[in-house]
Amino acid sequence: MNINFWFLKGIFKGIKTEKFPKKAPLDIAPWSTALVGKGNVDCPVEAIKDGKWNFEKCIFCRRCLPEYAPNGDTAIYKVSGNDRTFKKSFHLFPLDSGACGACNVELHNIAAPQYDMTRLGIFFTNTPRHADAIVIMGVWTEGMGKVLERALEAMPGPKLVIAMGACAISGGIIGTGVTDKFNADVVIGGCPPNPYTILSALMKARGE
Ligand code: SF4
Ligand code: SF4
Repeated sequence: MNINFWFLKGIFKGIKTEKFPKKAPLDIAPWSTALVGKGNVDCPVEAIKDGKWNFEKCIFCRRCLPEYAPNGDTAIYKVSGNDRTFKKSFHLFPLDSGACGACNVELHNIAAPQYDMTRLGIFFTNTPRHADAIVIMGVWTEGMGKVLERALEAMPGPKLVIAMGACAISGGIIGTGVTDKFNADVVIGGCPPNPYTILSALMKARGE
């Protein structure tokens, strides 16, 4: 009975997965996307200096509104190392080093039907031994430092290190960034990052 119910519900609702990246998404939540504006403002993390905005530091607190506002551009990531080996199958091992939980939710969201990362050949794995990339979220913490080292050691090569969110990149407002301790091949801006930023960065990381 239940099977019929879900089957009919599926037919009735239709396909919900986006055409992204073949077609630009119609609707993007403006936060966290690139901020544009002019002048200097009192930014708590000095993400705006000499009139220039730095996505790696921005915690998207909105204190600089209305001088600076998001423009919907989700390309706020940097890829310094990529590997085409992962083009068809890219397994991610998420590691929370000291996150508030919101980065974790947005990373989880890319597996939801709307974004459906598996159609792009991206998957999660719960062991570093099967991982192509480690996705680190949150600030660097004493307690998780050793865990992080062990996870990186356990990963087979080739492997990528991804720092996701302002905390992991620069320490956010309270801490030290993971990138101060480990070299990251990919940094994904946002607090938390937009799912489109995450997907675009992951695709770029495998040479697309
Ligand atoms: S949103 Fe906040 S952290 Fe980002 S630039 Fe503006 S004031 Fe700075
Ligand atoms: S970057 Fe922002 S959303 Fe992500 S863990 Fe830090 S505070 Fe939370």
